[in-house]
Amino acid sequence: MSKRLWIKQPLACFDGTRQIETNGLVIEDGKIVELLAVGQQPSHPCETIFDARQHVVLPGLINTHHHFYQTLTRAWGPVINQPLFPWLKTLYPVWAKLTPQALRLGSEVALAELLLSGCTTTSDHHYLFPTGMEEAIDIQVAAVKQLGMRATLSRGSMSLGEKSGGLPPEHTVQAAEIILDDSQRLIDRYHDTQDGAMINIALAPCSPFSVTPDIMKQSAKLAEEKNVRLHTHLAETLDEEAFCLKLFGLRTVDYLDSVGWLSSRTWLAHGIHFNNEEIYRLGKEGVAISHCPVSNMRLASGICRTQELLQAGATISLGVDGSASNDASNMMYEARQALYLQRLRYGTQTITPELVLGWATRGGAKTLGRDDIGEISIGKQADLALFTLEDIRFSGSHDPLAALLLCGADRADRVMVAGNWRVIDGEIVELDLPRLLNHHRKAAKQLIDL
Ligand SMILES: [Zn+2]
Repeated sequence: MSKRLWIKQPLACFDGTRQIETNGLVIEDGKIVELLAVGQQPSHPCETIFDARQHVVLPGLINTHHHFYQTLTRAWGPVINQPLFPWLKTLYPVWAKLTPQALRLGSEVALAELLLSGCTTTSDHHYLFPTGMEEAIDIQVAAVKQLGMRATLSRGSMSLGEKSGGLPPEHTVQAAEIILDDSQRLIDRYHDTQDGAMINIALAPCSPFSVTPDIMKQSAKLAEEKNVRLHTHLAETLDEEAFCLKLFGLRTVDYLDSVGWLSSRTWLAHGIHFNNEEIYRLGKEGVAISHCPVSNMRLASGICRTQELLQAGATISLGVDGSASNDASNMMYEARQALYLQRLRYGTQTITPELVLGWATRGGAKTLGRDDIGEISIGKQADLALFTLEDIRFSGSHDPLAALLLCGADRADRVMVAGNWRVIDGEIVELDLPRLLNHHRKAAKQLIDL
């Protein structure tokens, strides 16, 4: 029989929807097997007891949008004050020089930073496959396994170069056949359909201004055949809306519909510039939106209409977005920014810490098409983030759960994935972080200097 662990008497516990009173939870075989009422003892003896009286316990946080490789181009001078399109056009030639080794380092740093912030499941949207980078997703799978996290890695693509009216330079785009063959290969090799999966694959043409409608349609067809999820950037800026009108004669949601993507299989990054009718259609089909508040503020893109989307039936989750537009990979920091940005639009009563933490957990699971993570309840995977309130920033705080966001928690004390501790005392188990950062800094400098 496997060992049982009792996470005993947490200071506070959030179950993915609300704060609950509990005497703790029991973990066995990587799952939550008991959720104890106040005063209740575990049904059988536990070999290990973790005293959680100093800890606020959350479901492991779930990040639904990122570009790991961009940790190599954080806070880069030429784009600090640029909005999306010029920002992209300046960065594309730099990113085109990405090497397998640099991607591995960039991915490890992004994953480590997420994990330290309490994130246990992440997605990534990788769409750069210059010559020599054919195995980019394989490299990311290896990095995720090394960190012991879960991930939905999306096989991104760009197929509409400058010559055909697209935004990216010609040498960064790929032919449709190559994209689709590789998509199929990756799904067959890595996509795990079981409960508790560590790796999922999704298909993710980059954006309307960097792929052809044909790739959107073929990807939707393949995703349907293989039962995997679809992801793309949509309605991030007004530039993009103007682009769609000019090239396709359609607004963004009409475009999405025209290529067969208006479905519950789809999750969209940003989703800012929708009118009421478009929100109704997205909600009706059960599309999910990854809200990326920091990126949206940094690039001055706009504010996602989360409340109208939720009311219409859409799912909301949180994404840190790529580190060239955030420039952090920290889910607690993102949740705090979501709380404040959304309050500017909807007020203090509507946007609560519980609502936003729900987006960062349960909403994230739904966005990635999973029902085995994102909640603290019996039968779910034992993915947990535990925070202490010992740092100076919490001194004098009263409500432990609200304190995480209001006082700005940014580093978990303990993180568990599938019943295994991956962070202990604020440090990642079995990772030489200083050594990783040393190599990563060199790779980042090299990418810019080349
Ligand atoms: Zn993005």
